[in-house]
Amino acid sequence: MKSSAQVVVIGGGVVGASVLYHLTELGWTDVVLVERKELTAGSTWHAAGGMHTLNGDPNVAKLQQYTVGLYREIERRSGQNCGIHMNGGLTLASDRERMDWLRMAQARGRYLGMDMEIISAAEAKAMFPLLEEQYFIGALFDAAEGHVDPTGVTRAYAGCARQAGAEIYQHTWVSDLRQRPDGTWDVVTDAGEIHAEHIVNAGGLWAREVGRMIGLELPVLAMEHMYLITEDMAEVAEYNAATGHELPMGMDFDGELYIRQEGGGMLLGTYEQACVPWSPRATPWTFDQQLLAPDLERIAPSLEIAFKHYPALASAGIKNVINGPFTFSPDGNPLVGPVPGVRNCWVACAVMAGFSQGGGVGLTLARWMVEGDPGEDIWAMDVARFGNWASLAYTNAKVRENYSRRFRITFPNEELPAGRPLHTTPVYDRLAAHNAVWGASFGLEHPLWFQRPGSEPREDVTFRRSNAFPVVAEECTTVRERVGLTECSNFAKYRVTGAGSAGWLQRLFTNRLPRVGRINLTAALDPDGHIVGEFSVARVGTDDFFLFGSQIAEAHHSRWFGAHLADGVRFDVLALSLVGLSLAGPGARDVLQSVTDASLATEDYPFMTFRRIDVGMIPAYVGRMTYTGDLGYEIWVAPECQRALFDLLWQAGQPYGIGLFGFRALMSLRMEKAFGTWAREYRPIYTPVQARMHRSLKLDHDFIGRAAVDAELARGPARTLGYFDITPDPAEPADVVGDEPIWHAGAVVGWVTSGAYAHYSRRSLAFGYVPTELAVPGAMFEVEIIGQRRPARLLSEPVLDPAGQRMRA
Ligand SMILES: Cc1cc2nc3c(=O)[nH]c(=O)nc-3n(C[C@H](O)[C@H](O)[C@H](O)COP(=O)(O)OP(=O)(O)OC[C@H]3O[C@@H](n4cnc5c(N)ncnc54)[C@H](O)[C@@H]3O)c2cc1C
Repeated sequence: MKSSAQVVVIGGGVVGASVLYHLTELGWTDVVLVERKELTAGSTWHAAGGMHTLNGDPNVAKLQQYTVGLYREIERRSGQNCGIHMNGGLTLASDRERMDWLRMAQARGRYLGMDMEIISAAEAKAMFPLLEEQYFIGALFDAAEGHVDPTGVTRAYAGCARQAGAEIYQHTWVSDLRQRPDGTWDVVTDAGEIHAEHIVNAGGLWAREVGRMIGLELPVLAMEHMYLITEDMAEVAEYNAATGHELPMGMDFDGELYIRQEGGGMLLGTYEQACVPWSPRATPWTFDQQLLAPDLERIAPSLEIAFKHYPALASAGIKNVINGPFTFSPDGNPLVGPVPGVRNCWVACAVMAGFSQGGGVGLTLARWMVEGDPGEDIWAMDVARFGNWASLAYTNAKVRENYSRRFRITFPNEELPAGRPLHTTPVYDRLAAHNAVWGASFGLEHPLWFQRPGSEPREDVTFRRSNAFPVVAEECTTVRERVGLTECSNFAKYRVTGAGSAGWLQRLFTNRLPRVGRINLTAALDPDGHIVGEFSVARVGTDDFFLFGSQIAEAHHSRWFGAHLADGVRFDVLALSLVGLSLAGPGARDVLQSVTDASLATEDYPFMTFRRIDVGMIPAYVGRMTYTGDLGYEIWVAPECQRALFDLLWQAGQPYGIGLFGFRALMSLRMEKAFGTWAREYRPIYTPVQARMHRSLKLDHDFIGRAAVDAELARGPARTLGYFDITPDPAEPADVVGDEPIWHAGAVVGWVTSGAYAHYSRRSLAFGYVPTELAVPGAMFEVEIIGQRRPARLLSEPVLDPAGQRMRA
């Protein structure tokens, strides 16, 4: 065994093997994989090996597409048979919502170059004669689906990696991990120690335990999962003889099951409602290529549907029942990337669909390690999308919810209940008393909208307009015509102090730093000029700054700032030690002025001022700006003051007709002002030039990514963020939710990033990226919304107050 290596990958399941392979592909060959038993000994060996590209997140779908396309290559190069069966797959829908979901998935696939076809129930029956047509109304057919041999695939990755110089040590258990002061690692195994620059936790069923070796509690939990294999069936033999090929795979939403041919019989797996976590607190190290006791009672409801939907199964004998554990994160997507706050420590775990996703996970992690950037938009898989709040119990609640909803639709306006409420701010009860409908993000509850008194605070879930629509319209009117009050604690907040702060931030940010007492907007870029963050920067002293950013990216951005930290600079995450309320609308100044001695007249407190003042008895930092684009203030206080602040403003606002507004209204208001948002318009796959962040881009100083910006400005961006006015279907109006394809002259040319109905302007609006040469004001496009191409006109300016007079008033 080597005593040192550049990378030690811990775990020889399909994911660890894929990471090892991709590292060697990118030229890192001094790499080893350590496996406590044999390759595949965790959840890999007993997987059903199914693979597909369909995923609700297009970026994850793209990585699945890459994975599925990789198998022939590794099979050829390694000489290891991967057992590839590309039979195609049907996702079967039994009702209108599911059909809508399939149409939306098909549409998203278009701009990724995925060619999927919507077919009728009769066509599905012709492709898959075992199904009973009466239970379905249609299906999505994807030719890029099938199944592989899990062991063959893992060995093929390993074989290719070995050919390139990687070493694999089986029957070698990593028992401890110790970090040296220089950030390198001593990997302690029962066969000796390896000194490594980097470690990768691909421990699968034991990823949590490997994390605990360095004091990490990764949000990952294993669930029991069952599938059964039937004896050979005459119906299967007939189909094979008649067509010369195997049956396609089937995913059946209604039965919460998947079905495919296995040999001469069928394999049927279920995601049952009565799901059961496995080893919820600690995975025993003694577990080794074992199966769990089958429990057919538990999956009986799914089996009952299966026998109805596929009657031939009812009379087929059961040859084998497999019950095995595999892991999930709280949202079902993998945990990939550098662990925040720990140098040279990477994870690739919680991969619940190793044969659909393993290749993409390995590729992106290897790129991240070798090139410093994952190369794709992998926000949905970034380990930093969870904070420390994702505890063992939270993970348990969410994973069970997720497992039991595997084949359920999560609507764009749906908020799932498990693990909530977790974090609340002091005004939670006040807002609840006003009938708030809540959403949760990064563990924190925030008000989405305020239901009318006497009605239940609940939103109907839908792809179209919900019961919130008329109420949110009223909230928007309150803001635009009188004054609205909302909570704004759901920002990430950071404080940067220390003698070197200004110099440090200036090097990171594309905009000039604001003067003391001022606030401005800025972007942060990677060396290739991609947007890694978008922040409001408020300066309260020469070397004293508050930064405000997207809350969901708090751990992600903290990791980035931490990695760039300079001597003499202190970077603190304020989290909920600073909370906020926001007043917006033409009456905002009058309300706030009535409770403070500080003059808020524009000449004394102009737009983009940020100062420490007293509001009533409460010490506050008050910024004159809001995301509504109206006259307004964000008022930041210590949590112990927030209730008093709420009561004070609510009282003071009564003569001015104050009303509450929530996040849905905020999204509507920001759309009519054409304000972009992090994770939608601004993501690490876009650049500030493409995103038209010109006001945040000052070329009078050097910053990370500057050379790339100069080069792009010189040649012109290939694509540009457009702002569209959409004509919805008058019969059944629906607005965009994000990721819809944008058509032009009969071809898909771009995609929607986000949008909303702008109630006050009465327009359905969207943002989306299109080729720059097409981004001509007034140009006509079409946006595909739930299977319908709707006209979309490219706008040149915000539909409301393009000169920005309201916020400067
Ligand atoms: C019944 C069932 C059916 C499934 N069907 C499918 C399917 O059809 N399609 C699909 O895509 N996925 C399927 N899966 C899921 C799939 O099995 C997983 O996504 C995949 O196996 C995850 O691989 P992994 O490498 O992350 O983890 P594992 O396979 O668990 O690998 C982790 C490895 O790390 C090793 N290890 C851990 N700790 C240490 C240590 N300290 N020292 C050394 N070695 C260590 C373990 O021994 C193990 O071999 C199924 C799972 C089950 C249970």
